[in-house]
Amino acid sequence: MPQVGDLRAKMSSLLEALNKWLCGPITVMEVCGTHTVSIFRSGIRTMLPKDVRLLSGPGCPVCVTDQAEVDAMVSLAKKPGVVLATYGDMVRVPGSCGSLAEARSCGAEVAVVGSAIQALALAESMQDKEVVFAGIGFETTAPATAVLLREARRKNVKNLSVLSLHKLVPPVLRLLASDPTLVIDGFLLPGHVSTIIGTAPYAFLAEEYGKACAVAGFEPLDIMAGIVEIARQICGGRPAVRCLYGRVVRHEGNVKAQELLGEVFRPASVRWRGIGVVEASGLVLADDYSDFDAYSRFGITLEEVNPPAGCRCGDVLAGRIAPLECPLFGGSCTPQFPVGPCMVSSEGSCSAYYKYSSKGVSPWGA
Ligand code: SF4
Ligand code: SF4
Repeated sequence: MPQVGDLRAKMSSLLEALNKWLCGPITVMEVCGTHTVSIFRSGIRTMLPKDVRLLSGPGCPVCVTDQAEVDAMVSLAKKPGVVLATYGDMVRVPGSCGSLAEARSCGAEVAVVGSAIQALALAESMQDKEVVFAGIGFETTAPATAVLLREARRKNVKNLSVLSLHKLVPPVLRLLASDPTLVIDGFLLPGHVSTIIGTAPYAFLAEEYGKACAVAGFEPLDIMAGIVEIARQICGGRPAVRCLYGRVVRHEGNVKAQELLGEVFRPASVRWRGIGVVEASGLVLADDYSDFDAYSRFGITLEEVNPPAGCRCGDVLAGRIAPLECPLFGGSCTPQFPVGPCMVSSEGSCSAYYKYSSKGVSPWGA
């Protein structure tokens, strides 16, 4: 195990490198919610030079789930004979008529699962119920939903369906990169998503939009190395997509997982919370799996729904504002009484700012 002194020394040499490369103010978006939390927890924000501005991005799967999608989950859960299964953080996200947790307290059946495949066991053990798995998340969690569907098909399970709310990262990054009103010089790209898709699908960010990019792991040194790399690319005038997470990310990604996704899903244009409809940025069930599709089984269509009054989650997710600029932050919106998902999710930027932003001392002594 590395010694604390070694880690400190490595961190301070990365900081030195950052100061060496930096040629002026730069804005870097950390796309992934786990990066946001790790940046706060490790005190990285407090030791960065003032010319480096970090923005949180659309990388929390719970936060980007649109209000209409939350409402669809809640209304499904309230149907007699339906058990709605989904991941934990989703349960407290407020929909237009309350959250899944509130629906559950009024008698709706909501099951929290730690992995998609648990929904299959639920369906098998509750033959008299319809189990609907609400599959949220990016390329990282979609393969688990695909495995669930394959298994359900193999076992000929009839009382299970999937409400696919999965979203894809590269299309939303294209939207952000092409928006002239957003100032983003570089992207710190998500580690787990990249293990599935590889680095090739991000090439357009550098080639078409001139954005500096680094795929980084989640340890503080990984993140700092990513920021140094981005500064080096920006200030050297050579934007590219560099992978600094070679221990788990390959250029071509996980080809088996990609094939599985191609078998079970097809891309579709879907709405992201506060960002709007993004072309080909979601995954819906492929025709071969349409008999498992909760949208058609329960006649669900997603209409545009207004987010909670005053909530600026959409602007936070697009990097237009920092959480502290939302007028509800810390007042009517807190982790105990959240108004929007960014304050609910453990990967949400509002919740990270709320928990960590007052701790302004660098634990690295830098
Ligand atoms: S890479 Fe992993 S941790 Fe980051 S947003 Fe995606 S799922 Fe969450
Ligand atoms: S502070 Fe609350 S209301 Fe404001 S953007 Fe964050 S989650 Fe939404």
